[in-house]
Amino acid sequence: MIIDVSDILKEIGASKDFEGTMDLKDMVYQGERIGFLTPVSVSGNITNIGKLLMLNGRATVKLQLQCGSCVQFFDRDLEFGLDAKLSKENDPDDPDIFVYNGDVVDLSDIVLEFLLLELPIRKQCRPDCKGLCPYCGCNLNFERCECEKSLANEEEDDVDSRLEALKSVLSANGEEV
Ligand SMILES: [Zn+2]
Ligand SMILES: [Zn+2]
Repeated sequence: MIIDVSDILKEIGASKDFEGTMDLKDMVYQGERIGFLTPVSVSGNITNIGKLLMLNGRATVKLQLQCGSCVQFFDRDLEFGLDAKLSKENDPDDPDIFVYNGDVVDLSDIVLEFLLLELPIRKQCRPDCKGLCPYCGCNLNFERCECEKSLANEEEDDVDSRLEALKSVLSANGEEV
């Protein structure tokens, strides 16, 4: 989404509204797949504040993400703010500045950067996702397995046999148990 800012560059204080959609391609980010189920809807305004342009806006999109617990794909609506400073030159003292060239601002990189910041760190299909059974791999949201149970029983057996061993050591020393 390209915005022509030539008109507001001439006058400090001048502002212009924008509204539109942009298509982003499905991607893999930090090893996780991010699918775009809708274009990103973007709206806001850009104001000339002298040395810089200020961008204020909001964006919404429907994403398809992969649950970190059960690896199922799920949909997630995401809404996020876009607040950025735009300049023709990079400022080493201000890492928050986005550089634009000529009289146009390309919103794609800006929107993508804010979108990636907004992604949930822990992607869960639902807050109470039960995940996959670590032993048989079944999806515990939909299926039940006996792995947990039989494992818990084994652990109990272990504790019992260790106790027995301890008891016999103690009684061999002639102590009351
Ligand atoms: Zn899940
Ligand atoms: Zn299992």
